Amino acid sequence: MRTGRVASVHSWELVTSVDGPGTRMTLFLAGCPLRCQYCHNPDTWQQRDGATTDIDDILARVKRYLPVFEATGGGLTISGGEPLQQPAFVTRLAAEASKLGVHVALDTSGFLGRNASTALLDDLDLVLLDVKSGLPDTYRDVTGRELQPTIDFGDRLAAKGVPVWIRFVMVPGLTDAPENVEAVADIVSRWPNVARVEVLPFHQMGTSKWERLGIEYPLADVHPPESDEVEAVRERFRARGLVTY
Ligand code: SF4
Repeated sequence: MRTGRVASVHSWELVTSVDGPGTRMTLFLAGCPLRCQYCHNPDTWQQRDGATTDIDDILARVKRYLPVFEATGGGLTISGGEPLQQPAFVTRLAAEASKLGVHVALDTSGFLGRNASTALLDDLDLVLLDVKSGLPDTYRDVTGRELQPTIDFGDRLAAKGVPVWIRFVMVPGLTDAPENVEAVADIVSRWPNVARVEVLPFHQMGTSKWERLGIEYPLADVHPPESDEVEAVRERFRARGLVTY
């Protein structure tokens, strides 16, 4: 694993209209240092629970989908868990996929952004960066970790001009306070490389996984936001000149 020859992989899937442009092969690496209250994939938290997988197996799948990527303007999205927990593999995979002409996206919280080398950033066509909250206290409450590393990583991406899509999950009573949303907008609007902000309404689809793992789900009683509430949050980003979805 130290050389990036193998990784602990949770799963992969073929998706369209999420995780980047076109049809994507999204690879979910196992292991994450965050504990987001709204996590839909708590089964990706432990790196030891993934399957040790050789990079050649992943690249063989990527090659199989080259015609699909070409026809749809899609590519590979490296996700998790937190992919930057296995930086050697991610760096090698991004380099190999780039050599094949594949559009490569990295889906990350940015918390381990310091693990991303300049060489890796050079091979990324897009970063899907989760800014899970804008106020440090709320961020800590939501994730169990600190906000600053995500801001630092965003600053590096901005300095290098790597295109970024921001993701913000709107959870009623947890992340939707106007001052928290404004703080996210403050952070994001100083990055000129942000092409869009995706405001994702919280949903309950991950509940069964928490139950299966025997972990108490902290948001069991929270209802998804109404569509006009989501639009109001999107409007706050639009007011800063940001393109939102
Ligand atoms: S960063 Fe992603 S995988 Fe990790 S806990 Fe948060 S939502 Fe779950």
